[in-house]
Amino acid sequence: RGARLDPEVADVVAAAMKEWAMERGATHYTHWFQPLTGLTAEKHDAFSVGEETAFSDFSGSALVQGEPDASSFPSGGLRATFEARGYTAWDVTSPAFLVRSGNTVTLCIPTVFVSWTGEALDKKTPLLRSVDALSTQALRILKIFGTNQNVERVLTTVGVEQEYFLIDRNLYFARPDLLTCDRTLFGARPPKGQQLEDHYFGSIPPRVLAFMSEVEQEMYRVGVPLKTRHNEVAPGQYEFAPIFENSNVACDHQMLLMESLKRVAPKYGLQAILHEKPFAGINGSGKHNNWSMSTDTGVNLLDPRDETHTNMQFLTFLCSVIRAVDLHADLLRASIASASNDHRLGANEAPPAIISIFLGDMLSDLIDQLEAGTPKRTLKRNDLDLGSHTLPQLPRHAGDRNRTSPFAFTGNKFEFRAVGSSQSSAWPNTILNTIVAESLDFVATELEKAVGKSKGDLQNAVRAVLKGIVKDHKRIIFNGDNYSQEWHAEAAKRGLPNMRDSVEALPALKTKKATDLFKKYKVLSKPELESRAHIFLEKFNKQVSIEAETMTSMARTMIIPAAMQHQSRLAEAVSATESAGVDCSGQRSDLEAFVELTDKVRAAITTLETEAGHEDADVLAHAKHIKAKVRPAMGELRSVADELEMFISADLWPMPTYRELFFIK
Ligand code: ADP
Ligand code: MG
Repeated sequence: RGARLDPEVADVVAAAMKEWAMERGATHYTHWFQPLTGLTAEKHDAFSVGEETAFSDFSGSALVQGEPDASSFPSGGLRATFEARGYTAWDVTSPAFLVRSGNTVTLCIPTVFVSWTGEALDKKTPLLRSVDALSTQALRILKIFGTNQNVERVLTTVGVEQEYFLIDRNLYFARPDLLTCDRTLFGARPPKGQQLEDHYFGSIPPRVLAFMSEVEQEMYRVGVPLKTRHNEVAPGQYEFAPIFENSNVACDHQMLLMESLKRVAPKYGLQAILHEKPFAGINGSGKHNNWSMSTDTGVNLLDPRDETHTNMQFLTFLCSVIRAVDLHADLLRASIASASNDHRLGANEAPPAIISIFLGDMLSDLIDQLEAGTPKRTLKRNDLDLGSHTLPQLPRHAGDRNRTSPFAFTGNKFEFRAVGSSQSSAWPNTILNTIVAESLDFVATELEKAVGKSKGDLQNAVRAVLKGIVKDHKRIIFNGDNYSQEWHAEAAKRGLPNMRDSVEALPALKTKKATDLFKKYKVLSKPELESRAHIFLEKFNKQVSIEAETMTSMARTMIIPAAMQHQSRLAEAVSATESAGVDCSGQRSDLEAFVELTDKVRAAITTLETEAGHEDADVLAHAKHIKAKVRPAMGELRSVADELEMFISADLWPMPTYRELFFIK
């Protein structure tokens, strides 16, 4: 019921949980939380230490509260090192689980993580607050429509499709870039990539299938309802999707899935890569965040039902989402900003950095009708006749698919597709819940005023409010091809923000609009929000700096030495041939060209080293430098080194090539 736990109950629950866990072999328990590193954290304590205290040290208070040292987690300036104390507090709404590894079993208790002054230092606290905010506002709408019987809470439901790559682990170890950055920083395009479109939904290689089924078993044991598994578009790319759950649990389970992918793959000689863009020239990985709102009695509030034009409550929720996404497209964009996702968004494989909504024919038609006056019809889907009597008639879905849209209505939910494959889904959902809470608040306030005045005429009031929303915000709706150049021009004309990368996107978290929004709905205080903006930028800077250093070191210690060997082979051949009195001017010019190319690589290394050495105390200024100078220098080094790869003798190239990475399964 969303109520607080009575401390006396906690003792009883703790005893039961301990018993349950120990019966299954658990020796330790841990508060499991999600600090702002984007990963999960755990500090294990033994249930029993010696005969005397056996079974006595896991009490209600140990269940409810923990006290890890917070000083080594990012806080974005929220606390000084001397105020290192942090608290973890039990999230009773997310089931505890057992993690088995080797022969140890650990009881993991999902918790939030806050500073000793109560500020959120994690991803879960604001997510829980955002669901509360949305629930409060959604209940007002239900009350207006008189559909709130027995409903105590509204929650958001989330099902996240996770894309990832698998590569042979031996090859992974031979690539310092994969090992330290989870992506390749060099690599010439192989003759075969994904052109033949032969991998998507293809038969799953046996080693991969064995891996997948072990992940599934691990996940079922901890209660994560995985449902789908298949090959994705790029060679070596795969996907898992669960059945949706309430957003808090779904986001916890998402973290568990990512960890399981990493943990299980080595058993099969594989490495799971969660980076958004591990390889240039083929698709990257994303996370489709399917999202809807539901009552605690199980009614999906974004289900259009039949005769949708008469379903004013659905249209109210729909228009609230449209308004939210248009007003706060900048925040949604910021919620998925990271150094790694920058490589994917807008790269003609993933949605562009411009946020827009795909509604499909049926809903777009309804939106037009709303704008014109009273909706009178719902476009019907027609059945597909497959032409043979033995084949069934298939109902055609009214909402077609549009893979190019960053935010698409898909039947009875929205699918936020621009989320990065490696990121925690808690943050984008926090933002989504908060911005929709604000729009529901706006609509509820308007309707309460109108209904208060002229008793009874709810339908007219709703139509008027929705009409206003459609007029003001329909610019965010786009059903066409989001990859096209025309859309970029059209979006600019409509005044939609186009924040191409993290450096442009992240400052949206520091605007007055954002600060007021998060404060009003009690999701994040100003310092909490500022600390996040700081941490995200800092992470961006560190990530790219590590990549730049890895690049220069690989170029100096692997690529240049290989080039030198190749060069001396060429030179020896030329001089031996010439001294034998045979003309080899063709080979001589090959050698000259090769030396020239190697010099370009050398020059590019120097430039990158200089630019990457730049320091700036201000994180945003540093990020801007990285964007303006470091990334272009990385691009230049890569392009000349990749060219070199195509000329160097295959036996001398010092790392596995793209061909090997993609096709050794
Ligand atoms: P598709 O493959 O068309 O994207 P699926 O029906 O396979 O659609 O669903 C994709 C994901 O969306 C799954 O994780 C599914 O559980 C989730 N999903 C379905 N309905 C909802 C809902 N009401 N709220 C949140 N997620 C949902
Ligand atoms: Mg999908």
